[in-house]
Amino acid sequence: MEIYLDNCATTKVCPEAVEAAMKAMAEDYGNPSSLHRMGLRAERLLTGTRKAAAALLGCDYGCIYLTGGATDSNNIAIQGAVRARARMGKTVVTTTVEHPSVAETVTALEKGGYTVKRVAPRPDGQFAPEDFLEAVDGDTVLLSMMMVNNELGTILPYEKVVPALKKRFPDLIVHIDGVQGFTKLPFLPEKLGVDLFSFSGHKLYAPKGVGGLYIRKGLRVLPVEYGGGQEKAIRPGTEAVPAIAGMGAALQMVKEHRAAIMQNYRERNGQLRLLLKDIPGAVINSPENGCPHILNFSFPGIPSEVMLHALEERGVYVSSGSACSKGALSGVLKAFHLPDERVRSALRVSFSRETTAEEIDAFAEALREVTGHLSAVVNG
Ligand code: PMP
Repeated sequence: MEIYLDNCATTKVCPEAVEAAMKAMAEDYGNPSSLHRMGLRAERLLTGTRKAAAALLGCDYGCIYLTGGATDSNNIAIQGAVRARARMGKTVVTTTVEHPSVAETVTALEKGGYTVKRVAPRPDGQFAPEDFLEAVDGDTVLLSMMMVNNELGTILPYEKVVPALKKRFPDLIVHIDGVQGFTKLPFLPEKLGVDLFSFSGHKLYAPKGVGGLYIRKGLRVLPVEYGGGQEKAIRPGTEAVPAIAGMGAALQMVKEHRAAIMQNYRERNGQLRLLLKDIPGAVINSPENGCPHILNFSFPGIPSEVMLHALEERGVYVSSGSACSKGALSGVLKAFHLPDERVRSALRVSFSRETTAEEIDAFAEALREVTGHLSAVVNG
């Protein structure tokens, strides 16, 4: 038995995406920059993927830039936008709970002389919109905030924050790291006033190493890499056509089945929450109103790594905090004001469109067994 519950780290590629990627490799293998027919066929695949992303974001497909994933998109967005506005201000506002691809990029700017203000969640783990309004001032060039936190599923208050800030500071550049929220929550960048929006394919049933960046029409972003001018010189280098074609197919599949996919996340989340109530020692860390594909919980006293491997022996795959910060005590969970003991024992479960009720029952059974055994060991 294998139960994969680490879909925030990455998802299984859907059959539609596999087929599209295979076809791009075997048949449409031209270079999209080539002027002949084979080039044109490959170029059409890129356009198809731009259109699939644009259809989900309600924007023109010319605003979609194809990248090597969200780390790439976040770097281009943040560094590129700030560079283009170098003379207009020296402050960047972000949060204390960002993914390293945002947090480290902003820290690099700080080392280069920018002032960085990091908005923190309140003690209840929720962000207050007014804290963002207070942090941004006339010197702020960029606000970069995530849509949904990847460890807890907390939804950030971008819907309130962005329009309010844009009203007060029309020139402020707003970047949203949308990796964990894209297609899960309704999101229309133009309507909200968002200038830059990053997403990743492999969290949405597409192959790894491909993603996208929405750039508002007219916004100037300077390149952070130089090369052959692909993606309007914002992301140069020959495009990963098979992965991009796969992402187009995956996005189309998600768009078509969105309601059913969301329903499955909600049902599995509710089911697991109920089952955890009956397992001694379980404490839920995710908020009630979070994005339902993630459920984070702890068994205080049993270290995450120990639990993770005990579950792995039973064929169950979960994550201890973010897969990007292997082994380290999660700074993000601490930033959400979780007590150290809960941080040390946190497990993140993330559902896929295919996760079944039977799998969650079996997972709960495995948890019951493992925690019963481990707490006997830990408590002597
Ligand atoms: N931002 C968030 C919120 C994420 O969860 C991740 C993936 N863990 C990334 C950015 C990075 O995405 P990618 O793996 O496509 O570089």
